[in-house]
Amino acid sequence: MGKETGFLEFDRRERDYIAPEERLKHYKEFIHTPDEPVLKEQAARCMNCGIPYCHNGCPVNNIIPDWNHLVYEGDWKNALDILHSTNNFPEFTGRICPAPCEAACTLNIVDSPVTIKSIEAAIIDRGWQEGWVKPQIPAQNTGKSIAVIGSGPAGLACAQQLARAGHAVTVFEKNDRIGGLLRYGIPDFKMEKHLINRRAVQMEQEGVTFKTSAEVGVDVSFAALKDNFDAIVLSGGAEEARGLDIPGAELSGVRLAMEFLTQQNKRNAGDDEVRAAPRGTLTATGKNVIVIGGGDTGSDCVGTSNRQGAKSVTQLEIMPKPPEKEDKALTWPHWPMKLRTSSSHEEGANRDWAVLAKRVVGEGGDVAGLECVRVEWRDRQMQEIEGSEFTLPADLILLAMGFTGPTKRGLLERAGVAMSERGNVEADTDAYATSESGVYACGDMRRGQSLVVWAIREGRQCARSVDLALMGKTELPR
Ligand SMILES: Cc1cc2nc3c(=O)[nH]c(=O)nc-3n(C[C@H](O)[C@H](O)[C@H](O)COP(=O)(O)OP(=O)(O)OC[C@H]3O[C@@H](n4cnc5c(N)ncnc54)[C@H](O)[C@@H]3O)c2cc1C
Ligand code: SF4
Repeated sequence: MGKETGFLEFDRRERDYIAPEERLKHYKEFIHTPDEPVLKEQAARCMNCGIPYCHNGCPVNNIIPDWNHLVYEGDWKNALDILHSTNNFPEFTGRICPAPCEAACTLNIVDSPVTIKSIEAAIIDRGWQEGWVKPQIPAQNTGKSIAVIGSGPAGLACAQQLARAGHAVTVFEKNDRIGGLLRYGIPDFKMEKHLINRRAVQMEQEGVTFKTSAEVGVDVSFAALKDNFDAIVLSGGAEEARGLDIPGAELSGVRLAMEFLTQQNKRNAGDDEVRAAPRGTLTATGKNVIVIGGGDTGSDCVGTSNRQGAKSVTQLEIMPKPPEKEDKALTWPHWPMKLRTSSSHEEGANRDWAVLAKRVVGEGGDVAGLECVRVEWRDRQMQEIEGSEFTLPADLILLAMGFTGPTKRGLLERAGVAMSERGNVEADTDAYATSESGVYACGDMRRGQSLVVWAIREGRQCARSVDLALMGKTELPR
């Protein structure tokens, strides 16, 4: 423990953001890393709890009290080694994780958890700056080969672990660039993409081969992979978006959030409009935008619409407004259900809850408005409130209502693996083995749409299971 009285002496101090009016002018990250003395004070707040709830709340079980202590001591290099021992990509989670560790922190009982996420980001950013992050090239090759299908955080973590164990790993990715939703879902202003490129270089040096624009089940035969590789890992994500089944939803101004977000990320990457938008350019500029769905994807649509210069942005959610503050006695150390206001919301959005979209109003083939009704929830049953109908002006309606699971066409049809009741690939979290021999599954493809940190955990654990199955023993951590 760094400083016994640290949590009494120092207040929680979060990272500063560039002001909304400034950051809305671009798509770059807008968080200031605190100076070293501030970071040390923040790390000193950690009490090194007898039961470190933070560690348990973190899906990759980051050894948080240890690296807090080392940061307080100024031993950044050892802090980095401990951070990397549980997490392949802390620069991703240090930016975009919702930080269940902070919700679980003992100091969250009084609403001032240790700033674990900022400290994590500072450790890894410093590690890269100092040149401490090096490829870990295996001493020996095992002669075994593994195909990883999908290059999101699950596939990347799995591939990196397997390559470090000495296996020949090839990652197949259907998109033109690797990264999964890190690349083409999450906006650049939350996480810049050079961070993925830098890791890809490291992984190539460690022996990973990336094959992009290669959709298994379409461009690449699954049967051929089974013949040519000793094991196959399915990490293709949960890409099937929930649609909107109401009159008018077929109008061209009603679009999936992912189509909108992907286009902007491609533009930011310098792709030309045609390549970025095979179905036609989609922008929010000068438009009344309605985002249906109150979650993270919706929030990313809000931030992107505002950067594109939307006339107005409204985000609708069918569920009731959650409480502003959780009841700690009921929720801590678990992730609480409470109102969350993202940096994108702070940039400007009309948010409304307990609203059901009923009909898209069209005018000459274009979207002109959205008819809605207010609803109330009793015993988990939704009821429309009579007389509460209203219509919002709309030129663009973005659907961000979640994902129903992995796409079945192509890969999963060919793989023939058993599916769970929820429509994901069936595999447990011990062996990560599917119903097909030598075929494994991890990340959103196995658990359904989730979080980057869960994908990293599953990728790591799946790698261990594959290594064990191929070699009869393994030194990879779980
Ligand atoms: C808009 C949006 C914002 C999000 N924001 C956050 C956030 O801020 N923080 C957070 O923690 N989580 C966030 N998430 C969730 C998070 O991104 C996912 O849980 C995570 O990326 C899942 O990782 P994965 O590797 O399992 O799958 P994915 O990231 O979905 O990657 C799967 C990859 O597999 C590829 N693929 C699929 N089928 C094939 C095939 N047949 N052949 C070859 N390649 C294939 C896909 O093209 C894709 O690149 C967000 C999700 C969305 C949609
Ligand atoms: S729960 Fe909070 S205070 Fe306790 S060890 Fe973890 S980070 Fe430190």
